[in-house]
Formats: sequence, structure tokens, C-alpha cells
Amino acid sequence: MTHPLIGLPTLAIPRAEKPARFGINQTYVRALVMAGCAPVLIPLLEDESVLRAIFERLDGIVFPGGADVGPLEYGEEPLPAIDNVVEAARDRTELRLARWAYDAVLPTLGICRGQQLLNVALGGSLYQDLLAQGATGLDHSDADGRARSALVHGVALEPESRLAQLIDETTLQVNSLHHQGIKKVAPSLRVSGRSEDGVIEAVESAEADPDRFLVAVQWHPEELTDLPWVGRLFRGLARAAAR
Ligand code: MN
Repeated sequence: MTHPLIGLPTLAIPRAEKPARFGINQTYVRALVMAGCAPVLIPLLEDESVLRAIFERLDGIVFPGGADVGPLEYGEEPLPAIDNVVEAARDRTELRLARWAYDAVLPTLGICRGQQLLNVALGGSLYQDLLAQGATGLDHSDADGRARSALVHGVALEPESRLAQLIDETTLQVNSLHHQGIKKVAPSLRVSGRSEDGVIEAVESAEADPDRFLVAVQWHPEELTDLPWVGRLFRGLARAAAR
């Protein structure tokens, strides 16, 4: 099998110093390679035609974790009490890629910010802060310094969902490194999993089209590659991208 090319949008680092760089956590790259993919890092690009030239060569795309999506992108003012960390250039690049990927039926996996980004790109909205807005009493964030691989809460998957069928599980223990979450689900998505407190932890395409692989999770599977079901998730993306 040839290795499908999977795009990974990067972030700008360091945020305020020079020389400016683009980067990504290595765990995403390693998880994709383990699944038989050839990951390619995508820089933040304002030039639409250059970004499109990269997009056209991809067999699939992963939207990774990171900063908060700017609230204006889903029609809300930033709440003053919340210290949102927003990276506008990254929002612009990733929202463009996400809408192109949807229109082109490109196999897509969203992780953490990536789930939120896909939901916003397709017309949904977010809680700017789950705790501050009373969406849950459970801290889903790593404010307590928890390990990125610590399994801290359960997720119940819809048994008929594409995700549950793919990984052959309906209940999971997952890591949790997010303070935001999906509020209004985008019309083209449906919820495929929730944590015990009701937070949306997984979404996927609402349509039954077997050719559309659009799966997103709020946790970080790339930090949990020792778990068998995590391998099934990334290999599922690889299979869809190889078609
Ligand atoms: Mn969580």
C-alpha cells in the first residue's frame, strides 16, 4: 500500500518572538506514521492559491489540538472573564482547509481544538469555557497539571455511530486537555459520544454516505497510541485516505 498523504496544519512558534517558526507536537506525526500514513506539515498561509496547491495533493487531513478558536468566528463576542488564547492566522488557515475538506469529501479527523474548529467551520458554536459557563462541574482542562496521557473521564459512544463501529468500542476512558467544548452542533454533524457529565466528546458526519470519513474527538488519541482502539481509529483514517 502506498502511504496516503495526510496534512497536518501547524502553529506559529514562538508566538511573539523571532525568528518565527511553524511547528506541531511530534505525537501527531508518530501516530499517523504508525497507522501507515505519510504526514505532511502545512504552514499557516494567507495566500489562498498557495494553500490550495497543498490541499489538492492531500489524501486526508488531521486538525490537531491547540489554542481557542476566535469567538467572532461563531458570532460571539469574547467573554471578558475568560482569558481566551486565540491565534487568528491559524484560524484563517484551518477554517479555509476545513471547508475545502468538507466540500471535497476529503477524509478528515479532528482532535480537541480540531473538533471545535470543524464544528465552527460547518456552522456550529462553542462554549468559550465549560466551567465558567456552567456546562459542567468537571474540570476537563489540564489546569491541575495532569499528564497528557492520564485517563480522567469516561465517554459513552452511540453504538450505531461510525466512530463506535470503527474502533469496536462503546465505552472508553479518555484523556482530557480542553476547557472549551461544542455548544451548538453544526447542521452537517451529529454527536457520536459524550462524557458522563454530558459534554460532547465526539462528533461525525450526519450523513450516511460511506465515502465520507469525517470524525472528530475532544480527547487526544495521539497521546494514547498504546491502546488498541486508538490504532483502529488512526488506521481507519488511513484506509479512508488510501481509497
Ligand atoms: Mn473531556
